[in-house]
Amino acid sequence: MPYTPSLDVSSMDKSVDPCVDFYQYSCGGWQKNNPIPPDQTSWSVYGKLYQDNLNFLRGILEQAATPSDDRDALTQRIGDFYGACLDESTVERRGLASVQPDLDDISHLNSAKEVTPLVARLQFTYGRTMLFSQGSTQDPDDSEQQIAEVDQGGLGLPDRDYYTKDDVKSKEIRERYVVHVQKVFELMGERSDTAKNDAGTVMRMETALAKAQLTRVDRRDPYKLKHKMKVAELSQIAPNFSWQAYYKDLQYPNFEILNVATPDYFKEVNAQLTSEPVANWKTYLRFHVVDSFSPYLSSKFVDENFEFYRKYLRGAKEQQPRWKRCVQYSDRNLGEALGQIYVQKVFSPELKASTLDMVQRIEDAMGQRIRDLDWMSSETKQQALTKLAAIRNKIGYPDKWRDYSSVVIVRDDFTGNVERARQFEVRRDINKVGQPVDHGEWYISPPTVDAYFSPQMNDINFPAGVLQPPLYDAKLDDAPNYGDTGGTIGHELTHGFDDEGSQFDARGNLKDWWTKEDREKFDARTKCVDDQYSGYVAVDDVHVNGKLTLGENVADLGGEILAYIAWQGKTKDMHLQPVDGLAPEQRFFIGFAQWDCANERPEDLRVRAMTDPHSPAQFRINGVVVNMPEFQQAFQCKAGQPMVAPPDKLCRVW
Ligand SMILES: [Zn+2]
Repeated sequence: MPYTPSLDVSSMDKSVDPCVDFYQYSCGGWQKNNPIPPDQTSWSVYGKLYQDNLNFLRGILEQAATPSDDRDALTQRIGDFYGACLDESTVERRGLASVQPDLDDISHLNSAKEVTPLVARLQFTYGRTMLFSQGSTQDPDDSEQQIAEVDQGGLGLPDRDYYTKDDVKSKEIRERYVVHVQKVFELMGERSDTAKNDAGTVMRMETALAKAQLTRVDRRDPYKLKHKMKVAELSQIAPNFSWQAYYKDLQYPNFEILNVATPDYFKEVNAQLTSEPVANWKTYLRFHVVDSFSPYLSSKFVDENFEFYRKYLRGAKEQQPRWKRCVQYSDRNLGEALGQIYVQKVFSPELKASTLDMVQRIEDAMGQRIRDLDWMSSETKQQALTKLAAIRNKIGYPDKWRDYSSVVIVRDDFTGNVERARQFEVRRDINKVGQPVDHGEWYISPPTVDAYFSPQMNDINFPAGVLQPPLYDAKLDDAPNYGDTGGTIGHELTHGFDDEGSQFDARGNLKDWWTKEDREKFDARTKCVDDQYSGYVAVDDVHVNGKLTLGENVADLGGEILAYIAWQGKTKDMHLQPVDGLAPEQRFFIGFAQWDCANERPEDLRVRAMTDPHSPAQFRINGVVVNMPEFQQAFQCKAGQPMVAPPDKLCRVW
């Protein structure tokens, strides 16, 4: 892996006053030196590390793909998956062949009654694009148990709001989407007038489905997603769909209770099952089979998929080279097989030990912070401390690797490999129903450059991919590392106590552990953050959605405060000296800012303003430091300067 330090003075723009725009001051040089590559929708320190990682994984995969008699089963599996993906001439020759049996089944559909078994079967390969999503989830009232769940899905655009908003840009996007749908039908061999007609049908059906869906903001309220019931009750909500048969077809383990995350959505599905003639269902299903599988089909489908989703919607100028896509498909489909080899090469026991030490120090800081809060009663504090103590720390990679031995991967059948790997995951997920929760499970693969907190698991997860320079830099001192990775650890921890996570208790159950007064004070404090970020403009006239991004913004702020306390505690007797003319405290904050140096395309910013719970890069930095007197002191900022929130606007939650 190429090395970049976690604090890079050449990435700064010292002509900018840090008290006027700290993000520009810290990242201006980076922005100038790192234009967005044509095949990317945005470019950032994270994005660059992700690309370096892809290069590194490519080396692993190319080696694994080299035929030899002494490859072990794991090497064979990832090597042949990658090799089959690179074999473009076979993929090209097959065209639509791999999905043709599914298209044939759809064409044989005779009545709405037959939709149920067909959807059940198609969901095995095409997942939530087939009308709705299904699988297992932790029981919101008993996090140790896995129960069945169904949830909304079935749209081609990235969010339900695309179908409902009335502004000029949203209308334009819808028009372009219909053209895309038409093109997909044409590529399947339809005449253009038929294809146009069919595209209209898909759009009309999706629009009705979208209107019945919960918004992303609503979905941040876990109570709005909790509707536990028996299958018989779901059958009352959606009697036109044969749920008993559906679960039998999918071979679910026996269960009593499932969670219907979005009952209104299933009412709409039910209505459409009778209002839409079966011909329209065929049209809808055919489109989604091909559209969702387009990236794996022959080049005309790949190209059209790129043109709409990546070029038009997100602003990329060029398709990514085939190898890059193949590395990503390998990671996505066999992540814990590829990850095993990856961690052997990049993640040492020393690295694990030093990051665990950092995690412990940040958790101690959180404990201290909770005890010191002046607005919370001791009763609620006790509950918060109990929850903090119960958080599990998962660092690097899973203790037990996923067993892919039942997944057949062959060298000459790329789409078949994708289908089998997907079916394995769907089966694995379904089989969890009725079983106790496996706390060792990870939701992302070890090479992933990201981290997460799970409220129901009550754990924080840092894969090896995110613990690499420049994010975590074992060669540099604590100041930039605590500012950067320390802040990320604090961020994930704070998620346990943001507007959403705080509704789950120490066991991961949806249970209120707050006194009424403390919850009201907490809500007032998060409202401060909501108002602050709602004032920011993401792109053109589109504001940051303060409610959609609230949890992330609270976590960004809380995380950096915790990292600062932990860093000060660790270094208090060290007599730190300035480096490159920058005081230790300044280096902490520049290290923080430089985790998120980025260049962003307007198209991508627009998509993310609607779908991404994270704020745009500059606000993830400036929005935090304006609320930190620690920062203002480090750079001697004065009241009235842009990076200093007025006292009545200063937000502190944790
Ligand atoms: Zn987060």
